[in-house]
Amino acid sequence: MRKKRSPAFAIAVVTLFTALSWAVPLSMGGSELLQRWKLQTRDLFFKIRHMSVGAPETTSDLLVVSIDEESCQQLEARWPWSRRLIAQLIEELDRGGVKAIALNLSFTGLESGDPEANDALALAMQKHGNVIIGATFDRENNVVKPTPILAEAARRYGYLEKIIDEDLTIRRSYLVRPYSLKRRSSYSSQSAVLRSDTYIDRSFPAQAVAAEAGTGAEGEAQYNSDLRLVTLGVPNRGVYVEEDGSYTINYLVGAEDLAEVPAWKIVQGKIARAHLEGKIALVGLTSALFLDTHPTPLGNMPGVIIHANELIAIRDGRMLAMVPDVFTAGLSWAIGLCVIALFMMRRFWLGIVGFVVAFLGSFLGAEVAFFSDRVMEPLILLAGSLISLVVGILANLLRLLLENKGLETTVIHDKMTGLYKYEYLRECLDEEWRRCKRAMFPVSVVMTDLDRFKRINDTLGHEVGNQMIVRAGEVIRDSARRYDIVSRYGGDEFVILLWHASLEEAKAYRKRLRDMYHAMAAKLDDPMLKDSSISIGVATFDPKQDPNHPKDPQELVEIADKDLFEDKESRRKPGEPRR
Ligand code: GH3
Ligand code: MG
Repeated sequence: MRKKRSPAFAIAVVTLFTALSWAVPLSMGGSELLQRWKLQTRDLFFKIRHMSVGAPETTSDLLVVSIDEESCQQLEARWPWSRRLIAQLIEELDRGGVKAIALNLSFTGLESGDPEANDALALAMQKHGNVIIGATFDRENNVVKPTPILAEAARRYGYLEKIIDEDLTIRRSYLVRPYSLKRRSSYSSQSAVLRSDTYIDRSFPAQAVAAEAGTGAEGEAQYNSDLRLVTLGVPNRGVYVEEDGSYTINYLVGAEDLAEVPAWKIVQGKIARAHLEGKIALVGLTSALFLDTHPTPLGNMPGVIIHANELIAIRDGRMLAMVPDVFTAGLSWAIGLCVIALFMMRRFWLGIVGFVVAFLGSFLGAEVAFFSDRVMEPLILLAGSLISLVVGILANLLRLLLENKGLETTVIHDKMTGLYKYEYLRECLDEEWRRCKRAMFPVSVVMTDLDRFKRINDTLGHEVGNQMIVRAGEVIRDSARRYDIVSRYGGDEFVILLWHASLEEAKAYRKRLRDMYHAMAAKLDDPMLKDSSISIGVATFDPKQDPNHPKDPQELVEIADKDLFEDKESRRKPGEPRR
């Protein structure tokens, strides 16, 4: 059975979907809950990537020297360690031939009570020549520089501040200290704006990268405010920064990916030179007891491992690049549109399968992009398929409702025979007419009328007449193919639409129908019924033969009617009255 398709309905559905798929992701920015979901889906991407691909090769250039409880016990030193002990640690690392020493510590406290210890530390730093130390912000957000003698000895210092999100997770870090922070009492990232290219300081990991590359202390790093890019004076190493001076940390390694030795073993000369030579030593607190561990997308991490992640990402040119939301939303819309198209194909399950494929595909696609350090906002990318699911289901429900309503008002079936009404056949014929013409398919119409039916009515009664009409209907339905349309014209007349049937095929059908009718009648008891017969007229529109004749469906039906009349006449017994 064929149904009419309404383009207006499809257009309405696509318009609704388009409106939603652009409005929803763009309005997502405002909701705190969605912001949180956004970050957490990104965290999930970090986890999946970390599980499926190993740490970058260059991770082996790093060595974490951990200041932990074990070291405190072995060296009989309580934290904070004396500057003399740290000097010793640096001396041993120097002896081991490490290339750069990044001390994830700040020496901003009061001058040590022991000036000789300060001198010893400064001396050790100077001797190595490539030591980086940390700096922090004070309560007015001024950079608190290290003790001058140490700052001078270290030559490089970078600040250690990280940005703590509302869920206490660290996902970003300051690369450039925003000037406006000076005037703010809190590190509110939204309103702090980086306005100047004359920044003062750089982050600790960036300084470590510059130190390792062996570039001079000052001047090489530049901020391009148009590109929001900080170049680090090292070829191909630039970092995109947000307006607040921050950049998103690309978590590439966990603590387990990094070679780690406890500080006491270094101090006591227990580590062979082969393990130290040419490495970048990252010295920092790793024990949870020292309260320098933080939630990150890869789980709880000591601050020094977070810095190791930043360092590797900057050093390898693998900072996260954000794909513009507009691009992601466009892609998401296109994916959802495909799902909608499937939903509109009158196969509900096809839509559902399409949704599942699109949803998983979007997720996988975003994750694959993530493997190459590109962040397509996952929630925006998934929005298209989710919205298409909702709109697709709603559209199907609505269509069902409309169709049911349509069936109630224009009943298309004949009550007595269960066949279609002739009006429905005509609708189908009108619809297919153009298609036949275009595709050069023939279409045939067959008209039938029972012979001398009034006599049956008059002699055997109306009820028997009704039964005969029903039987005739059944025979005609059985004689036609499943996809042909069989209708009751009214009274004892039927019209059949034979799709793709040539005139020869229609004539063959006429013969078959007549044989079947006689076979049916022969089984009946009453001699009048047994003797009953049927007149059949056929007509064909074959565009290959003549695309202009008949000129329209109406004429096709009229020709069939005329043929029916002739058929009846040809078999009329002498003296029998005409129709
Ligand atoms: P012909 O051989 O020329 O076809 O003559 P006919 O007696 O079959 O008469 P015709 O086809 O012109 O008219 C059909 C008759 O069928 C007219 C009407 O009395 C009768 N009829 C129409 N609808 C029904 C119906 O629903 N039930 C019954 N029992 N009879 C009907
Ligand atoms: Mg008749």
